[in-house]
Amino acid sequence: MAGSPDFLWLLDNEELLQLMLFACPDGVVVADRGGKVMLYTGSSESIFGFAPIEVLRREASGLFASNEEWEEFSAGLGRDGSVKNMEMQALHKDGEPFWVAVSASILRDRYGDMIGTVLYVRDHSTMRQIQNTLHDRNRQLHDLVEELDFLARHDQLTGLLNRGSAMDAAQKPLVACGLTGRPFSVAVFDIDHFKKVNDAYGHLAGDEVLHSLAGVMRQAARSGDIIGRFGGEEFVLFLPGATLEQAVAVAERVRVLVKESRIPIGDGVFTNVTVSAGVADIPGSADALREAIRVADSRLYMAKRAGRDRVAWSDAGAGEDRERDAA
Ligand code: GH3
Ligand code: MG
Ligand code: MG
Repeated sequence: MAGSPDFLWLLDNEELLQLMLFACPDGVVVADRGGKVMLYTGSSESIFGFAPIEVLRREASGLFASNEEWEEFSAGLGRDGSVKNMEMQALHKDGEPFWVAVSASILRDRYGDMIGTVLYVRDHSTMRQIQNTLHDRNRQLHDLVEELDFLARHDQLTGLLNRGSAMDAAQKPLVACGLTGRPFSVAVFDIDHFKKVNDAYGHLAGDEVLHSLAGVMRQAARSGDIIGRFGGEEFVLFLPGATLEQAVAVAERVRVLVKESRIPIGDGVFTNVTVSAGVADIPGSADALREAIRVADSRLYMAKRAGRDRVAWSDAGAGEDRERDAA
């Protein structure tokens, strides 16, 4: 703003345009009809790194890194007469590609014939870096959220769903079974005298037993079944599509597999445990889920009272015979 305030008025239009052109912070490149550079401003030099002498009369396309992008740019220019802010990879003098945003127009003479092209080039490398960093951060955040979500929904020791998310996971198939008239059953399991394992071999050995039971349940379940650790040494198996009888058969299979497992608890030592289970079928309504678990739970305790290592599936005749019939 210093200097004579009237100086601008002394310039003729051509001098003024030249000042504007070279003051433009975007690189300005003019190419002739054949695509050869015939004007290349100081800002272009600071963007591309090439001195004017290295660029003038050479192909303007040589300033860009990707042939496909250049062709896309030329096609857009030919079609619309101009291009606005197209992101392209330019080629720096040091050989490194970098991002620029290019706007361009076809220059025409008074008869409308094309006489050349003007390109306005803006360095986008910092913008791209910021975009890339943001993109990376977003992905990391997304991964972290997924990890936290997984941790919140799963039991860390066994990798099974925890109580809340097993219940959530069961709601949808329960509703679907209700609508289509398919059965839906639930089985709850509890390790027998688990406290004794902890007392005899320590808590870590107890953890191995829990881990092993989770494996057995995965083995016995079909795809679509939902397995959860309900807490402590209690597990749940939701069986969409299974009748009470079918669910009892699966629970029996778990019981037998557990009984037959020799569970390594370190230092070449093995142990074995048994489980008791209660099974119930669920009338097709989402409200019935809790009630069915309550019924299965009370049957589980009937199985415990009847001597453990058994599956109970009926409220009537809670005695041993009834449970044994399931085997
Ligand atoms: P019951 O046959 O009647 O079920 O007897 P129980 O000993 O299995 O049942 P009780 O409820 O008396 O004991 C359950 C034990 O499970 C007590 C608790 O320390 C243990 N427990 C709960 N969660 C874990 C765990 O994550 N790891 C280990 N190692 N033990 C656990
Ligand atoms: Mg127990
Ligand atoms: Mg228990």
